[in-house]
Amino acid sequence: MPYYNSHTHATQLGEKAIVQAPMQNLQIPHSIGVHPWEADQWKDTLLPSLLLHPECRAVGEIGLDALKGPSLAIQKQVFEAQILMANAHRKPIILHVVRAWSDFYQIYAKHTPQTPWILHGFNAPKQIKEVLKRSLYIGLGPSAFENPNMLSQVSNLPKDRILLETDDSPMPISEVYLRYAEACGSPLEDVALKIEKNFLAIFGPW
Ligand SMILES: [Zn+2]
Repeated sequence: MPYYNSHTHATQLGEKAIVQAPMQNLQIPHSIGVHPWEADQWKDTLLPSLLLHPECRAVGEIGLDALKGPSLAIQKQVFEAQILMANAHRKPIILHVVRAWSDFYQIYAKHTPQTPWILHGFNAPKQIKEVLKRSLYIGLGPSAFENPNMLSQVSNLPKDRILLETDDSPMPISEVYLRYAEACGSPLEDVALKIEKNFLAIFGPW
C-alpha cells in the first residue's frame, strides 16, 4: 500500500511525496514558492522559471502568517502575486495560513481558486466551519493529531478533501496514516484508498 505525503521538507528515497523546495534535487516531485515569513525577500523574476520545471507539482508554501514574518500588507502582496503565477502555470497551491483567517478569506473571495488549494498543516478547529464552506483541501499532519480539539473533529471532515503530510516532523508518513485511520475509526486500507485518490487528482500523474 503506497503512502502519499502531500508536504514534506525531507523525503525518504522512493516515498511518494511533494517535497518542499529541494533546490539541490529538482528532479523529484516538489513544490516551490516564497513562504510568508520571507515575503520581504520576494523577487518576482525567479519563480516563473522554476515553475516551468516538469517536476514542480505545486506552488507553496505560500500564504499569510500573523505571528511571524514581515507585515501582513507585504505578505498579502507576495501571496497574491504567487496566486496569479500558480494560475498561469495551472499549479495547485499549498497554503500556509496562521492566525490570518479573515485576510485569507478575503483573498480567497477575490481570486476564487482556479486550481486546487490545500491548507497545509491544518490545525485550526475553530475555522473548520468556514473552511468547509469553501473549495479547499485540508492537509493534516502530526500537529493536528496532537491537538485534542482538532483530533476530536477529524472524523467529521469530508474524506474527499483530505491529504496527509509530515511537514518538518520526523514522524513517518505511515504513522500519520495510522493516526488518521484511528481518528476516523476506519480501516487503514479504506482511508489509504481515499487519500490516494485525492492526492493523484491534485498532484498526478505519478
Ligand atoms: Zn512546511
